[in-house]
Amino acid sequence: MIIETREIEPFRKNGYVVGCDRTKEGVIIDPGDEVDQLLDAVSTHGLSIKYILLTHAHMDHITGVDRAKKALGAPIGLHADDNFLYKAVVQQGIAFGFHVDPQPPVDFFYDGAGPWRFGDYGAWVHHTPGHSPGGVCLAIGRQDDPSRTLFVGDTLFAGSIGRTDLPGGDMTTLVRSIREVLFAFPDEAAVLSGHGEPTTVGREKRTNPYVGHGHGEHGSF
Ligand SMILES: [Zn+2]
Ligand SMILES: [Zn+2]
Repeated sequence: MIIETREIEPFRKNGYVVGCDRTKEGVIIDPGDEVDQLLDAVSTHGLSIKYILLTHAHMDHITGVDRAKKALGAPIGLHADDNFLYKAVVQQGIAFGFHVDPQPPVDFFYDGAGPWRFGDYGAWVHHTPGHSPGGVCLAIGRQDDPSRTLFVGDTLFAGSIGRTDLPGGDMTTLVRSIREVLFAFPDEAAVLSGHGEPTTVGREKRTNPYVGHGHGEHGSF
């Protein structure tokens, strides 16, 4: 599986390109301000992008959607419970002091687990509300192999968890999503977050100070 990660200032938000080495089909996840670097990675690998998949609709995760859609022509997927945030991307920018352009409408809402297939791989969608109402984990892997790589957005970080003070956020819900959805995956499952370094389910189970106690306010939007 091809995985390329890019991040730039000011948000240092991770955007991802995930591809199938055999068929050269792929998906792009959360294109933000680093969209040009993601598109370069798509070209370098010669990928045909089938979907633009969003983990949630905070502005740092969607500012590059318009450019990605124009360059790739792929449909945009989001959980319906975050569409109010997606449609308000310009207002999100104003609230944080940034100019943000409007983004094209979502093409489809995740209805059930999927998978959304690309080549030999699929992206299974698991609803993980708490950081935002429509936050999801995209669990990506081969159809015939149970191991999955988890693209968790801002739900869980290496050593931290997502903030819950933005519209629709809720700490109890977030902690439940992490414990019941993300921690149900095997300890060795890789966790690729919306910000910061990769981690694993097992490492966060053992060492994450926020999930064991059910409180704490920290993280990035
Ligand atoms: Zn973020
Ligand atoms: Zn966020």
